[in-house]
Amino acid sequence: MQFTVVDGHCDSILDVSNGLRSLAEKSDTGHLDFYRMQNNIDLQLMAIFIENQYKPHNILIKTLELINLLDEQISQVNFVHKILNKKHVEEFSNSTVKVLLTVEGGDSLTGSIRVLRCLFNLGVRSLTLTWNNRNEIGDGCAEDPGGYGLSKFGKKVIWEMNKLGMLIDVSHLAEQGFWDVLNTTNMPIIASHSCCKKIFDHPRNLSDQQLKALAENQGVIGINFYPYFLSDKPHDASIDDVIKHIIHASNIMGTEHVGLGSDFDGIDKVPKGLEDVTKIRDLITKLKEVGFSKVEIANIMGNNYLRVLKKVLPNE
Ligand SMILES: [Zn+2]
Repeated sequence: MQFTVVDGHCDSILDVSNGLRSLAEKSDTGHLDFYRMQNNIDLQLMAIFIENQYKPHNILIKTLELINLLDEQISQVNFVHKILNKKHVEEFSNSTVKVLLTVEGGDSLTGSIRVLRCLFNLGVRSLTLTWNNRNEIGDGCAEDPGGYGLSKFGKKVIWEMNKLGMLIDVSHLAEQGFWDVLNTTNMPIIASHSCCKKIFDHPRNLSDQQLKALAENQGVIGINFYPYFLSDKPHDASIDDVIKHIIHASNIMGTEHVGLGSDFDGIDKVPKGLEDVTKIRDLITKLKEVGFSKVEIANIMGNNYLRVLKKVLPNE
């Protein structure tokens, strides 16, 4: 059985922006490039993340520059295509890599719904509402415990994203904001790169109550590979710890709501056995070993994300 692999989050464009490498060339640094993705990843959500030094005054310029840079990289390789609508999600063929542009951190909107619409027009199809800090939409998970919920502007962003056909991402969001999003959205959402609090208590991880609510919303959690979110022994973390989080999330949510969110090239340490994107399909063998069925593995490796994208993205 050929498994379709979808990954919910990577920050690889930062290496290009910082002049370290090109994604359009095979490299032996970083965690992924288009050549290493080929035949390993079918669809990757690629984040535009704006580093702190550009906030607040140059954030929008930098966002636009990174979108343009990523477009340029995609255009240099003939087997990589950008996903914009439901139809594109269905058209899979062997050896192609699909990319869905996301913006990580609603700071880029600079408090303007029109900027959100402009980003959509440039091909952005998902927004991680916050990073760890507070922005115009709401609080990130590093603000006061629990954090404040969505602002009035934050709720407008949710309504507009529902209307446009953009996927809402609650990774990094403070807990109160998470509940506000679920009470506001009329579409499934994702937590593109988070883990389970029950396995390891970290502010970036979701409680069982949150996991249940995400499943009720028909959404998906993408399990993050970052050793510091996986376990209290990050130096010993391995692919088996990622499996532990997948098992727990599956027990709480059902396998229809669990996926992958590697955070490749956004993390400074990787678990043993998942050193880069060429190892991602090793998860299939591990999932078989611990007793998941083929259908369940297919769901976790990618089909759950595909279901959500087919529901949320615009028709054309
Ligand atoms: Zn992140």
